[in-house]
Amino acid sequence: MVKRRHYNIDGIDTCVLCTSQEEETIDHLIFSSQFSQHCWAKIGISYNTNNSRIEATIRAKENFSGRLFFEIFTIAAWNIWKERNNYIFNQINPTHNSWIERTKADLNWLRYRVPTDLSDYITSIVNNL
Ligand SMILES: [Zn+2]
Repeated sequence: MVKRRHYNIDGIDTCVLCTSQEEETIDHLIFSSQFSQHCWAKIGISYNTNNSRIEATIRAKENFSGRLFFEIFTIAAWNIWKERNNYIFNQINPTHNSWIERTKADLNWLRYRVPTDLSDYITSIVNNL
C-alpha cells in the first residue's frame, strides 16, 4: 500500500521476518517466509505456497488433522503479523518463542468461546506448542 501511494520507502520494503531480502508482500510475509513456514509447521498447518492463496488455504484445511481450522489459522496468521509489527514499531526482533507465546495466549482466549470438548482440544494444542 505504501508503495502504491509513492511514499519513499527505499530499503524498508523488504521482509523483516527473515533474511531473504524479499519484498514484503502478504504472500511472502504470512505464508512463505522462513519465519512463517516454521510457524505453520509448528501449529500443524501445511501451507503449499506454490498454489494461489485461496487454493493453498483450501488444501491446508483439507490436510489439517484437527478441528477449528479457521480459528487456529487466523490466530497463527494474526500473530505472525504482530511479530512483524513489533519489529516495525518497537524495534523488537521477531522470534518463534514470542510468536508461540502470543499464539498460546490467543488460543487460551478462544477456549472461552467454544463448548467444553473443544476447550479441552484447544488446551491440548496449547500444551503441545
Ligand atoms: Zn521473509
